[in-house]
Amino acid sequence: MNIRIDDLPVRDELRGKSPYGAPQLDVPVRLNTNENPYPLPEPLVERIAERVREAARHLNRYPDRDAVELRTKLAEYLTKTSGYEVGLAGVWAANGSNEVLQQLLQTFGGPGRTAIGFEPSYSMHGLIARGTGTGWISGPRNDDFTIDLAAAEKAIAEHRPDVVFITTPNNPTGTAVPPETVVALYEAAQAAKPSMVIADEAYIEFSHGDSLLPLLDGRPHLVISRTMSKAFGAAGLRLGYLAAHPAVVDAVQLVRLPYHLSAVTQATALAALEHTDTLLGYVEQLKAERDRLVSELLSIGYEVTASDANFVQFGRFADAHEAWRKILDRGVLVRDNGVPGWLRVTAGTPEENDAFLDAVREVKKELNA
Ligand SMILES: *Cc1c(COP(=O)(O)O)cnc(C)c1O
Repeated sequence: MNIRIDDLPVRDELRGKSPYGAPQLDVPVRLNTNENPYPLPEPLVERIAERVREAARHLNRYPDRDAVELRTKLAEYLTKTSGYEVGLAGVWAANGSNEVLQQLLQTFGGPGRTAIGFEPSYSMHGLIARGTGTGWISGPRNDDFTIDLAAAEKAIAEHRPDVVFITTPNNPTGTAVPPETVVALYEAAQAAKPSMVIADEAYIEFSHGDSLLPLLDGRPHLVISRTMSKAFGAAGLRLGYLAAHPAVVDAVQLVRLPYHLSAVTQATALAALEHTDTLLGYVEQLKAERDRLVSELLSIGYEVTASDANFVQFGRFADAHEAWRKILDRGVLVRDNGVPGWLRVTAGTPEENDAFLDAVREVKKELNA
């Protein structure tokens, strides 16, 4: 029997839709999902094994439901790197920031409610909205991919969304959002509803600017979302977290599954946090490689969008998908995010970036021929 999704009684809003799907292709150079290209250093691998072995001795029991030790360490990391005092009560963690965002939408969105994002941006915001039954509103951006503040304020006043997403630095464009703009959007959202404002800082460690954490002061409806998937080089760990007013942390506990964060995950993340300095040691190098990609792409004759992240959006192509395919034919996987005319490349190792630059040099010639 050939039964497909739409033959099943799935929810109406899921009919005919496709899942999140960055292709996982087996090619020599993979620069398509914004991971850190460097494997974890051996001493950290050892430390993880040690902590996981210890955790294994207690796997007959449920893990710490509130992940107190881990959240304490995350709070220390945030305080140390931002200078803004964050405590255990103001930090929450889950399996990737995607789960954090899902919990936030389960808490503050849901049926009969809406969320807005300014697109192009991280496609998962809209997908998680859909998955939680939250209506999705696609807000505008300027042609240079910065947020059009006047248009955004107007959209917020008009739609009165329950949740406002601000991705900074933005994915896939790399564009950072100035703190003044975040404050203005927060105020617009409070005047309209009041609603929750989620700043997704997945790439903040790569930014030229500072984290928005200090803006939490006096703004109980602001949430800062973070991840260990990018700068920490631990995408396989699945650890995301948020900082917000303690009341927000209390609120998401209403929807989290009991014991959502396994003892193995908590042990691994704690080991990684002991090595924060080593892990973040690659960040400066990746920022330098990002800047090199920008200048080389420009000198080859491409346009690029100013980037504060570990990736660069480049174009323009009459047919971005055709260009994506031609780059792939040369053994380099980049990302076609569906932004017309543009592709995105993650900063990899110097060798990977050289391979990418060779490929796009050839593709440029071929497309101009
Ligand atoms: C990669 C990314 C995330 C991270 O998701 P995880 O679930 O933590 O791996 C979150 N937000 C944005 C904008 C991203 O690009």
